Amino acid sequence: MQAARADAVARRAEDFLRDCARALLTRAGDPGSARLEAEVLLASILGCSRGSLLTLDTLEPESVAACQALVDRRVADGYPVAYLVGRREFCDLSLAVDERVLVPRPETETLVGAFDSLDDAGVVPPGPVIDWGTGSGALALMAARRRPVLAVDRSAPALQVAADNVARCTARAPAGSRAILLCRGDALSAVSGESVAAVLANPPYVEPGEWAELPDDVRHEPRAALIPEHGDVDELYAQLAREATRVLLPGGWLLTEIGWGQADRVASCCERAGLGDLRRLLDLAGVERVIAARRS
Ligand code: GLN
Repeated sequence: MQAARADAVARRAEDFLRDCARALLTRAGDPGSARLEAEVLLASILGCSRGSLLTLDTLEPESVAACQALVDRRVADGYPVAYLVGRREFCDLSLAVDERVLVPRPETETLVGAFDSLDDAGVVPPGPVIDWGTGSGALALMAARRRPVLAVDRSAPALQVAADNVARCTARAPAGSRAILLCRGDALSAVSGESVAAVLANPPYVEPGEWAELPDDVRHEPRAALIPEHGDVDELYAQLAREATRVLLPGGWLLTEIGWGQADRVASCCERAGLGDLRRLLDLAGVERVIAARRS
């Protein structure tokens, strides 16, 4: 008992953060990310912003113990910080996330930027947008700033998370945001042909054989959000391109996220399905991350 109490002593905030960041280095990969993770965890325990950590001097023993428990969990098996704190930032959204959904990634913001640029250029026809495999609702919420959105997902638990995010984020959405309809399903078969202006997707694009090699963090995420349920990644993109071609209005766009090194294969899938005007967009790391293709 004595040892446990002695463990949780008041600490100088800066010293404690430095110790946490050192412990998190094995999971975060580099010192900057480790420090960021430490700050995100401590801010969540204190219920404050990361910025206001700067003004802290001493931490109460209870806060130290609670934050240390999160750090220990992260270090032990790579449990994602986003799940530990129940939140992840995406564009300017703060999304609720847990094990029911993939953690939104910064590279997926490339897809939002690509869609916004096409729309700003006036080359997306009027009409609604589909978010294929919405997960936490990240893409749907951003697209709804421009178009009504049909957000589909095969996973009922994921749709519950999306519904919470839609309810919370649309309550404070920018004026002019459009409706989001959430729908459970694994295909666009219920959608009429030539009816949507764009199909956006961040599909499960990890090859089934690669599951065991994924980092520990990623293996805490829903397998169905990472790995195609049937067949391989080529089949998944072929299905996506075929269905998009059917539901898209003339001049409508498919925008899909892709994994590292998949650009040529996905571009061919799109061409085989009859889509053209192919564009490859790079993420901030310079990796080809999004393919955009247009129905003629
Ligand atoms: N980018 C994710 C990863 O790292 C994969 C996401 C996806 O399959 N859509 O592993």
